[in-house]
Amino acid sequence: MRFTSTRGGDTATFSEAVIKGLAGDGGLFVPETMPDISSYLTRWRGLPYTELAYSFLSLFATDISGNELRHCVENAYGAFPDPKTPAPLVELNTGLHVLELFHGPTLAFKDFALQLLGQLYGRHIRNTGQPVNILGATSGDTGSAAIHGMLKQPGTHSFILYPEGGIAGLQERQIACTGSPLVHPFAVRGSFDEAQSIVKQIFGDAAFSSAYSLTAVNSINIARILAQCIYYLDTVLKLDVNADRPLEFIVPTGNFGNVLAGWMLSKMGIQGLRFCVATNVNSVVSVFFQTGEYRPGKVTPSLAPSMDIQQASNFERWLWWHFSGDSVRVCKVMNALRRDGNFILNEIPADNDIIRTASCDNDGIKTWIERIWNDKNYLIDPHTACAFTAVRENVRTVILATAHPAKFPETIISVTGQSPKHPSLEVLKQRTVTKQILPADTETVKAAIARILDIR
Ligand SMILES: *Cc1c(COP(=O)(O)O)cnc(C)c1O
Repeated sequence: MRFTSTRGGDTATFSEAVIKGLAGDGGLFVPETMPDISSYLTRWRGLPYTELAYSFLSLFATDISGNELRHCVENAYGAFPDPKTPAPLVELNTGLHVLELFHGPTLAFKDFALQLLGQLYGRHIRNTGQPVNILGATSGDTGSAAIHGMLKQPGTHSFILYPEGGIAGLQERQIACTGSPLVHPFAVRGSFDEAQSIVKQIFGDAAFSSAYSLTAVNSINIARILAQCIYYLDTVLKLDVNADRPLEFIVPTGNFGNVLAGWMLSKMGIQGLRFCVATNVNSVVSVFFQTGEYRPGKVTPSLAPSMDIQQASNFERWLWWHFSGDSVRVCKVMNALRRDGNFILNEIPADNDIIRTASCDNDGIKTWIERIWNDKNYLIDPHTACAFTAVRENVRTVILATAHPAKFPETIISVTGQSPKHPSLEVLKQRTVTKQILPADTETVKAAIARILDIR
């Protein structure tokens, strides 16, 4: 299996695509052809999660030996407290299920992708002898999930930039209380956008980033998307989905990576899948699916901060499939987006029959946290609450619960009086925060990285 850039100017094997992240032409890697997995479903039903993950990924990671892939998958999902059921499905009402994706090491769904990515980077280090160091900016969950994915890879340094005072207290503790000498939290005196732009500038200096073996923790790595397909597939098998027994997944959405992963299964021959893109007030993607107009603006901070995104980077992959792999059309749209800051598709996206949308403001988030607690005695986090607003009667539904409620206690306490806790977060509250506070200045950050790596 080869992977091709959405912009048509690069191809790669799976391993190459994993290490590159972004394609050489600035596009995103997608599988050149989609396997039809419908005939495997009978054989896959009832498999343990790691076996299912192995069987699915081996269709794509064809340049990795079976033994190596198995090793990566078992280590990735072995890090979950219950490796047999890393993604438990809870039935709240008849036909209304919650897929709990928050049982990983950092209590957010990003662990599913980043635990695997860490293992794949580890394999690269073992096989090539080349070091891999991680550099990224985070507004919350990605940074900690990336750090915890890399922690077990010997010798790998992680540099994570975040806005000083700009992320939730517990999120900062997950980044800055690991106790690992290889993890370097850089609290930047500036906004997330400034931190992000420093990271981009550092990668723009190819001599520097290659001298220090820096790799981006991208939300656009194809391995992340494929890892996320697996819990959808697991759910499809458990709930026996087909054309006569449809199922709708409601997905809290920011960068469009999670919902794209589910939607890709419909491109692999699975029938009966429906999706709802659930955003907070940053509803650029929702508006696009209603009108055909994609117009990112300024981010509005919300109670669901990990979805405070206007530029949904994975959207480019959806466009590629929507244009039946016509990379020239993808380039035209992406150029228009860069030039004008927006674009309009002449047709309303034909995907409307399998993708619908919903968005939710802060009042809606609070209302649903309170309602589900009162009615079901079940606590949901603010991101998951955005999905609950979209539930419809008499439709078989799975809501993706993307974060543990204990990660965002303030909102939950304010509406339910309950203070959700998780042992791994309680431990962090006892530890000291170790971070460097730096000005929002690229040269200063580069000097800090060089100082650390030069004295290895
Ligand atoms: C990242 C994140 C999201 C958004 O996922 P995308 O793949 O960016 O659409 C939703 N909820 C939580 C808790 C997250 O951390």
